[in-house]
Amino acid sequence: MKRAGIYIHIPFCRSRCSYCDFATGAYEGQLAERYVSALTTEISTFKLAPAHDSHDDAGVTGDINARAVDSTRAFEVCDVDTIYFGGGTPSLLTPAQVGRILRAVGERFRVADGAEVTLEMNPGTVTPESVAGYRAAGVNRASFGLQTFDDEQLRRLGRTHTAADARRTLRILNEAGFDNVSFDLIAGLPGQTLAEWARNMDDALALAPAHLSLYLLEVHEGTPLADQLRQGRWPQPDPDVAAAMYQLLIERTRAAGYEHYEISNFCLPGREARHNLKYWTNAPYYGFGSSAHSYDGARTRWSNERDAARYVELIKERGAAVVETNELTARDAGAEALFLGLRLMRGVDLRAHQTRFGTDVRSEYADDLSRFREADLIELDGDLLRLTRNGVLLSNEVFAAFV
Ligand code: SF4
Repeated sequence: MKRAGIYIHIPFCRSRCSYCDFATGAYEGQLAERYVSALTTEISTFKLAPAHDSHDDAGVTGDINARAVDSTRAFEVCDVDTIYFGGGTPSLLTPAQVGRILRAVGERFRVADGAEVTLEMNPGTVTPESVAGYRAAGVNRASFGLQTFDDEQLRRLGRTHTAADARRTLRILNEAGFDNVSFDLIAGLPGQTLAEWARNMDDALALAPAHLSLYLLEVHEGTPLADQLRQGRWPQPDPDVAAAMYQLLIERTRAAGYEHYEISNFCLPGREARHNLKYWTNAPYYGFGSSAHSYDGARTRWSNERDAARYVELIKERGAAVVETNELTARDAGAEALFLGLRLMRGVDLRAHQTRFGTDVRSEYADDLSRFREADLIELDGDLLRLTRNGVLLSNEVFAAFV
């Protein structure tokens, strides 16, 4: 079996950004401490649901709390080679708390030498001491929520940092020996012009991060940003400008020596986000903490309670906080693997796919494939099926055929 990834959700932020609809709340020291204790309990009592070994097609959805604490389950030791602290703002935890969580992972799982251990950090939430502490605790990669170098846009987004904070944080990371740093950038901000975006990219690339993730701004109902746009306080984001920004990023990163390896991700050679590759290559991953999702790498997905305080209670009461499980049919598992795999620019090996899922993609999706080839959205290179340059821009249209 492929090595698994571990995802740890930290649901606290200093304040809420205007566009955010993630499962996160305001940081509060005592709750954070109780939450870390619950996390270490959940990790150390984790029992893996048995992997499917048959190709039955029964799709079932339901509550598996009972199963998650079933003491008859094997306490299987799994090999893991990536650990990812996401949020929220994981850099609001102290190095000691991060260290406790990593020790719990190390006691429950067999962690490979050289495992990638990522902590999401927000500029302005770290100091030289805390960064050195994370490093000493075992963190070796920083994913850095930079978003934009435009202070006015940062203010509109409700971010609590400035561009100067971002540069200072990067300096602190470099001084502490972090050479594997990823930037998150958001494109398509209200009123943002292509020229402003180009300056933004120049600023980002001048700092030579190992990895860049691009997010196109999505406006979610119920967020302050959605209200502000309705009230006309900012111009509506323009999807055509956002598409041009994406295109420009592909060109500029390529010229700067970055590999565009996934629809929204770019890296210097050898610096792919190894944890995120688990999601796109159908590898197993186990999520801990509120709202965390897990996948056994075969047919079972499950997810935890979303509310942090309720999650802590559930762990105290039952040792698990799973609220939903989904048993995929063989067909659904194959379709998921296909559209997730197509997010990677290298594409999907159809022969390997057939061996694993028993689906002959060429005949199963013959009509869609021929339609997409005519429209120059996909290409077949031997057994490799991949998106074309046009297909990358219209990927949702392609993926819809497999859902
Ligand atoms: S820092 Fe991230 S998770 Fe927290 S409120 Fe802002 S966008 Fe949401």
